[in-house]
Amino acid sequence: MQVCKKCLLNDNMPSVRINEDGLCNLCSTQYESRGIVNNNEEEISSLIKANREEKYQIILAYSGGKDSTYSLKMIKERYDASILAVTFDNGFLSDTCLKNIRTVTDNLDVDSIIIKYPAKKIIRAFKYIEDGKFFPRQSMERASAICNMCIMLIKNLIYYEAIIRRIPIICFGWTPGQVMTSKPLIKLNYTMVLKGFENIKNIITSRFGARYEKYFLDDAFMRENEANMPYLYYPFVKNNYKEDSVIEEIKEIGWIPPQNTDGNSSNCLLNSYANQCHVSKFGYHPYAFEISNLIREGYLTREEGLTKIGNVANPCSYKMICEQFEKITG
Ligand SMILES: [Zn+2]
Repeated sequence: MQVCKKCLLNDNMPSVRINEDGLCNLCSTQYESRGIVNNNEEEISSLIKANREEKYQIILAYSGGKDSTYSLKMIKERYDASILAVTFDNGFLSDTCLKNIRTVTDNLDVDSIIIKYPAKKIIRAFKYIEDGKFFPRQSMERASAICNMCIMLIKNLIYYEAIIRRIPIICFGWTPGQVMTSKPLIKLNYTMVLKGFENIKNIITSRFGARYEKYFLDDAFMRENEANMPYLYYPFVKNNYKEDSVIEEIKEIGWIPPQNTDGNSSNCLLNSYANQCHVSKFGYHPYAFEISNLIREGYLTREEGLTKIGNVANPCSYKMICEQFEKITG
């Protein structure tokens, strides 16, 4: 296995090739920073203004982790808007994370809801997809199979809550390494949304039946609401990102770093298990791509990146999840 000397990607990833100078195909080509394309401040403010009568103007997918906490603080300070923070509890959020959600939303004076699906149901689905065989290669280079599915469940939930509550702006606190767009504000296209979830919805409902259908957006529901599709807003695309200063800033609103997560999660214990499955099967870290983006964009040094991907799993959390997963069969 060869590792890029600039960004840390290795050639176990199908799309990565290392040249004779020791650089990967992403680092050896002229790298163009995604930078800032639009200034959407006016557009966001006018969306908020036009929807002043609604109970909420912004819904934030709030994982309780450092990045979405920072996003929540940022949008709260920047916009005169009523915000709803929605957390999808996959059953494996750390106790510190759940405490952080309460403290932070209290301190920021933001309404918060936590939605959790039954543990057996969700573990069955995670077990079924964990080896990655149902996902395209490209998705496996971006995140583990479990993370991919969890993110899809979150998106289905958040889009649904936004549409049903007529909230015009959906906010995700992805890092600049996770967002593959230079546009911070994008209107949802309902056919593209449905197409994006079609595969996983079919896989899960054909294996486990109609009782899982409610966890995915329904075609008729989306068609009925075609005229009220919300906008996606990625605050990090437009802002400088430094992990240390993000953590320092959110500590001021009561956020505490959890001790039992792995090097790439600040909320979820399942991530240790998901990472370990992924590394064992594919031979590269599921966060390598995101971290390599952060290194190329200058947000992380290569050494910082190597430290992050060196910490694949928290051993206690990994063991706890293995035991829980083994108990659930069928
Ligand atoms: Zn590279």
